[in-house]
Amino acid sequence: MDVERVFHMTGGVGVTSYAQNSSLQKKVSDKVKHITLDTIQELYLTTTPKSLGIADLGCSSGRNTLSIVRDLVDIIVGTSRRIMQTSAPPEFRVYLNDLPTNDFNTIFKALPDFYRELQRVTSYESTPSPSIYIAGYPGTFYGRLFPDKCLHFIYSSNSLHWLSKVPPALYNKQGRSINKGCIYLSKSSPQMVSQAYFKQFQEDFHLFLRSRSEELVTGGRMVLIMLGRRDLDHFDRGNAFLWELLTRSFKILVSQGEVEEEKFDAYDVHFYAPSKDELEDEVRREGSFEMKRLEMFEIDKEVGEGTSYGTAVATAVRAIQESMLCHHFGEEILDNLFEHYGRLVDEEMAIEEIRPITLVVVLSKL
Ligand code: SAH
Repeated sequence: MDVERVFHMTGGVGVTSYAQNSSLQKKVSDKVKHITLDTIQELYLTTTPKSLGIADLGCSSGRNTLSIVRDLVDIIVGTSRRIMQTSAPPEFRVYLNDLPTNDFNTIFKALPDFYRELQRVTSYESTPSPSIYIAGYPGTFYGRLFPDKCLHFIYSSNSLHWLSKVPPALYNKQGRSINKGCIYLSKSSPQMVSQAYFKQFQEDFHLFLRSRSEELVTGGRMVLIMLGRRDLDHFDRGNAFLWELLTRSFKILVSQGEVEEEKFDAYDVHFYAPSKDELEDEVRREGSFEMKRLEMFEIDKEVGEGTSYGTAVATAVRAIQESMLCHHFGEEILDNLFEHYGRLVDEEMAIEEIRPITLVVVLSKL
């Protein structure tokens, strides 16, 4: 499946949209917001550019991207006034990136309100609000996106666990998946499956770092927040287990004759949750960045009133996976699939907590 042509979060602002179902992702980025803000502040104090280039990679179509942009602008404006004692903050160039099929329009439509709100929070006594220029940059972040050295700060949240493609080594000469009966790494997957996923991660992450190293100025920073895993074990009750439960939901549909077994066997996700060591090794091997910080964290599971955790996870995963699932299986299976999924997540949570692991990495361009 051609990820670049098919994969996108559910657009618009309807009930199944990513915009309405991304509060779990917001919680993740909020949990480490102090790290993000400290990093851009330190970068600003050490480089003091007049025109600050910021990119959000994998911005999607919800509110999360403009929310973090507002916080970044706010801290820099505050820093330039309080610490640098200048009344003129830098101008901001903000580059929003996602895959070409992303619903950029939903973000663009939110811009007038965003600019008004920004003016309100950043205007101070008689000083004017900063100039801010926002643009969309459609394309894959596994390759060059921006001109040479035009960026000072790169942010990416909840996006880099997506690979550029399903690892080709998962398919044999006849084009059949060697990961039959599973959609991601699972206990029953052959050894070759974890090797195939790991190799794809290495290739992709290397290309990501190499591309960004050409776009960032020396001393520029990146804050990358992504799903990861605790240690070498691929099958802890973190992220792989949530795919395992989606696999089980599929198996129910297969047993009820709603999904053909062969079709199910042919479906694999383009996802990888690296360990800290795997990330660190790639950064060292690529060689353009110094690792300033690498931390692992979990988020608390409370959700809005009247919603079970399972339902919240199911609607979030649906908004993320819908485009790929529709393309492969057709739309008809989705309601049923995610109903089973939400229930299974709740049942499993009642037995033992599922704790998705997230990694935050801060890199500085050498
Ligand atoms: N940062 C947002 C959105 C995360 S959802 C938030 O925290 O809420 C992940 C996003 O990454 C999706 O919109 C998806 O389309 C995008 N993405 C995945 N692979 C990508 C790639 N190779 N290049 C650019 N964007 C990608």
